[in-house]
Amino acid sequence: MYQQIVVLTGAGISAESGIKTFRDQDGLWEQHHIEDVATPEGYARDIDLVERFYNSRWENLHSGEVKPNPAHVALAKLEAEFPGKLLVITQNVDDLHERSGSKRLLHMHGELSKGRCPQSLQTFVLREPFSEDNCCTCCIPAKRLRPHIVWFGEMPFGMDRIHDALDTCDLFIAIGTSGTVYPAAGFVDSANHHGAQTVEVNLVEADRHSQFQYHLTGKAGDIVPQLVDTILAGETVGNQSFNQQLASALSA
Ligand SMILES: [Zn+2]
Repeated sequence: MYQQIVVLTGAGISAESGIKTFRDQDGLWEQHHIEDVATPEGYARDIDLVERFYNSRWENLHSGEVKPNPAHVALAKLEAEFPGKLLVITQNVDDLHERSGSKRLLHMHGELSKGRCPQSLQTFVLREPFSEDNCCTCCIPAKRLRPHIVWFGEMPFGMDRIHDALDTCDLFIAIGTSGTVYPAAGFVDSANHHGAQTVEVNLVEADRHSQFQYHLTGKAGDIVPQLVDTILAGETVGNQSFNQQLASALSA
């Protein structure tokens, strides 16, 4: 059985829960230019626009239309039942992993449900939308909270902890994120370099440049529960028994 597992989740797992996270071909993000709503410069230029953008995403997340799917639930089950170490790293800013019960979780790109004091960097759970009245309680005078989101040009959170985990894990799984684009591309290189098995789960066929050793193609909600069950049964990826279990589960 594995001793230490690192899981990376990306936009694909949230898309199966109805969250619009994909940037379209025109470089627009829900009708906005990315540089206007997802950069520190855009925020400095027009705070109200950026706040409206994140407030509408926050409302979508709490609309009742969005809920965790079986892949989120399976990862929470893995955390509850796997006796070794586990870290789930997510590129997603929604809280669908938390809603499923995941706790050993690192939001490398921040969280839609939090605001941050620009001075102390303390985070606050958002109980109301962003506005000039939604301020920190750590400073005098209080500072207007900014979205706790990693924007373009900013450093993702937890990179030291991520690299420590990748250096010592024996299984790295990426779900719903392209294996050839950073940061996943760098993560799989690191895990491979340290001798881990590496697996990607994606809706589309693996890119031929993918560095992952194993590729599982299909919906995360179909594949991840089976993957978790076979790992918890003590199987290792790539052995015959694992492949047979997964294949029969997916064709059932
Ligand atoms: Zn403050």
